[in-house]
Amino acid sequence: MTNPMPRAALDPLVAYRAGAAAPVDDRKLASNENPFAPLPRVVEALSVELNRMNRYPDPGVTALYTALSARFGLPQSNFAIGAGSGSVLSDLLQVMCEPGDEVVYAWRSFEAYPLWIHLSGARGVAVPLTSDARHDLDEMAKEITSATKVVLLCSPNNPTGTTINADELYSFLEKVPSNVLVVLDEAYSEFVRSPQAARGLSVFTAFNNVAVLRTFSKAYGLAGLRIGYVLASEPITEAIRKVTTPFAVTNFASIAAVESLKAQEELHDRVDRIVAERNRVVAALTEIGWTIPDAQGNFVWLDLGEKSVEFGQACVEKGLTVRVFADEGVRVTIGSAEANDMFLDVAAKGWV
Ligand SMILES: *Cc1c(COP(=O)(O)O)cnc(C)c1O
Repeated sequence: MTNPMPRAALDPLVAYRAGAAAPVDDRKLASNENPFAPLPRVVEALSVELNRMNRYPDPGVTALYTALSARFGLPQSNFAIGAGSGSVLSDLLQVMCEPGDEVVYAWRSFEAYPLWIHLSGARGVAVPLTSDARHDLDEMAKEITSATKVVLLCSPNNPTGTTINADELYSFLEKVPSNVLVVLDEAYSEFVRSPQAARGLSVFTAFNNVAVLRTFSKAYGLAGLRIGYVLASEPITEAIRKVTTPFAVTNFASIAAVESLKAQEELHDRVDRIVAERNRVVAALTEIGWTIPDAQGNFVWLDLGEKSVEFGQACVEKGLTVRVFADEGVRVTIGSAEANDMFLDVAAKGWV
């Protein structure tokens, strides 16, 4: 007899690798976090809730469903809130896919996609990015078969930063059969300044087979609380609520998100400052001789190929952590001006 063993399907998988911590929080440019401390009004609202942590959270996350519905002018039934948009996506794949199904996605993109696709039982069909690090929607359309259940798009794409343009997304969607769900992961949408970029909300209202993922982790600076959501049709959001772990969304997360939605102006101001830093960093890199794919998130992509690990090491020696994809490239988060300058110092040392 052998010992109890987990599913063999898990053997080829590697656990999600999170960005490495840095000696000082401000020097961690590895996880696309927001460098600003939480808003005082958020901290204040949470301090009240601290004295209630002996109670389970509101199972219906009512306050946030109400706030999101009002904000978007869409019924609450079009939302499914979860403990991070990553966890919502994992649930979404679980409710959509069975063995034999296929999920088409771009690669390189968010590291967790192949893992969650595999766990859902579906087969992942990875379509390489174009030479300018963008989704190749023509090739992705060609990979759609009668087995395709979901197409997963990421705009801006993590880790390359490029967006999918509205015109190319609309002509892609015209080609996608209506029974195939197209998921647009917009984790970084607030940082987008390209006027051509597709906007999930308008695509969602124009097509019945589109779902949009959003998170409070990046622009809203609530990564530590785990809160995100999907905009999708009612059968899908209802199914997600069936499978999701009860009480996974804490009152802390829900309250922080609701308070943040009330503080749009302050948050937009912060996002503007991050975007200004991003543009400064891209300009400085270009000046040194780097070619950077159109950076529309809160990060830049360095196409370093086999020098990636060495570059990551040079950053560590400087006290910075960045996200290294061995033999492919390095993703560097836009942090404080000081941290960005330290990164630029490393980038200026003869890599290009
Ligand atoms: C950060 C990120 C997410 C979501 O993160 P959560 O913290 O789970 O909400 C989703 N997709 C992409 C592409 C991301 O980079």
